[in-house]
Amino acid sequence: MSGDGPTLADESYAAAKAGIGGPGHGHGHTHRHGDGPEHSHPLTAGQEAHVRGRMLHEHEHEHEHERPPSRGGHDFALPDLPTAVDVFDTTLRDGSQQEGLSLTVDDKLRVAEQLDHLGVTFIEGGWPGANPKDAEFFARAPKELSLTRATLVAFGSTRRAGVRAEDDETLRHLVEAQTEAVCIVAKSSEMHVVDALRTTLDEAVAMVADSVAFLRANDLRVFLDAEHFFDGYKANPEFTLRILQAAEEAGAETLVLCDTNGGTLPHEVQGIVTTVLDRFETQVGVHFHNDSGCAVANSLAGVTVGATHVQGCVNGYGERAGNADLAAVVPDLSLKLRVSTIPADRLPLLTPVSHHIAELVNIAPNPQQPFVGASVFAHKAGLHTSAIARRSDAYEHISPDLVGNGTRFVVSEMAGRSTLAMKAEELGLELDSDAMTSVLDSLKRLEYEGYHFEVADGSLELLLRRSTGWTQEFFDLESYRVIADQGDELSTEATVKLRVGGSRVVATAEGNGPVNALDGALRAAIGSNYPALEGVHLVDYRVRVLDSAKGTGSVTRVLIDSTDGDRTWTTIGVSENIIAASWQALCDSVVYGLLHAPAFDA
Ligand SMILES: [Zn+2]
Repeated sequence: MSGDGPTLADESYAAAKAGIGGPGHGHGHTHRHGDGPEHSHPLTAGQEAHVRGRMLHEHEHEHEHERPPSRGGHDFALPDLPTAVDVFDTTLRDGSQQEGLSLTVDDKLRVAEQLDHLGVTFIEGGWPGANPKDAEFFARAPKELSLTRATLVAFGSTRRAGVRAEDDETLRHLVEAQTEAVCIVAKSSEMHVVDALRTTLDEAVAMVADSVAFLRANDLRVFLDAEHFFDGYKANPEFTLRILQAAEEAGAETLVLCDTNGGTLPHEVQGIVTTVLDRFETQVGVHFHNDSGCAVANSLAGVTVGATHVQGCVNGYGERAGNADLAAVVPDLSLKLRVSTIPADRLPLLTPVSHHIAELVNIAPNPQQPFVGASVFAHKAGLHTSAIARRSDAYEHISPDLVGNGTRFVVSEMAGRSTLAMKAEELGLELDSDAMTSVLDSLKRLEYEGYHFEVADGSLELLLRRSTGWTQEFFDLESYRVIADQGDELSTEATVKLRVGGSRVVATAEGNGPVNALDGALRAAIGSNYPALEGVHLVDYRVRVLDSAKGTGSVTRVLIDSTDGDRTWTTIGVSENIIAASWQALCDSVVYGLLHAPAFDA
């Protein structure tokens, strides 16, 4: 996305600069991003918002009363906000520092595709030169990634102390990565310069100035991540501001203030970001870690005082407590503060993209993750669900559709009649008052025994159907048996005896374990009567040992996830015997699959 020559955005930028650089402002004070060779890229939405903000700021001082009404400065509902921010995702760099998170190059390419699909402004791809994996990523990205919206960014650091920029290996790798933009980290806290880098404050400032100038001379757009900025500012504000000044003067596009240890609180963020914005013309960005539980709040605090670039990771991945969760920052800004982030029509992609990325990084999605979690629009208690059936905004802070999530009614022993009635209606079942009472009694008893119907929608549906007098007529079990035999190798064999279609069948199957063998034997016994069963597969099998409520020791709870390619369902079995629990869950899975098969020959 590099356009040659001036663009509309450039013109408005130039006009803004002219406005800003009016009488009373020395030229040295002017924003220098865009000086040097020529502006070679259009301004991002966040940068335009930044420029507009500066113009209004100036205007405000000169003609307070002429303030455009659209800014709504005295609206108590919303503070004076930027119109847009740039969303900078660092899942592939900072996010992959998370313990247990490891991505192959293929995974990284897939994650980048998802982020582009979602519509973030920048994707930080990794640190070329730091490891072969990231180097390979940047080598393959131009051929294998066709980003439609996002700009790929390579990450690195300033030159080392005492080395010329042109001789520094890290900077060379950044140029070789051949991205349009780079982000370099600079130590901006006195303590880290003195104790970790073991160099002087002057040298730390020179490292920033030289590195940014070198990268700009190589025609790269440069973001400066000022590491430990907030802590550094509290200890020695003058030094941290010198770092930013060096970056601004050398032509950095954005000054990103990083809360590297994640301990800063929102009121501190507001104060410090305001100070920086008052002092510099360059766009200001923020980067927060969640160690105090405030990463999202801090990001919003930064934007409310004028930051127009926000860094974070989808799903809040990152080392320790993680980075700011973009799956919360984005909807908070877009939906609540009306600050434009990703394109508005892509907001409903937030939940599917968040879940897809969770799958790619192989970390189970957190059901309680704000906006996108599976439980965050789920309603359980009876009173509450009857209210939500009348008014959806009674217990939901936004309409879940806006972020691609959905309202769910959860049924458990705590369920009231209204929840159950809604669930029955969802399934197209009519439950009279007696049936309702019987289901509620069964639910309470079964959950006491260790069942958990909230997570077993398939078994719940069968339970509701049975309460209306329905029984499954697909087959009639006589007995089953499983043998595990340790010979040269361990083999498992199951036999199922049942009646199906008027005849008695005995079928045997081998498997790599008891559940697999039982599944094989049941399919062998009834498969020819029900060809639809071929399309039904078990996809997951989970076992949990529970303390028995009956006090007779422990019971085993088995959950089986199944799919027919279109829908997926979960069934449950509970018993003191793991085979019996598995059989229950397996039978429910098969019965549910047959019940919903498009057509079967009974
Ligand atoms: Zn970080």
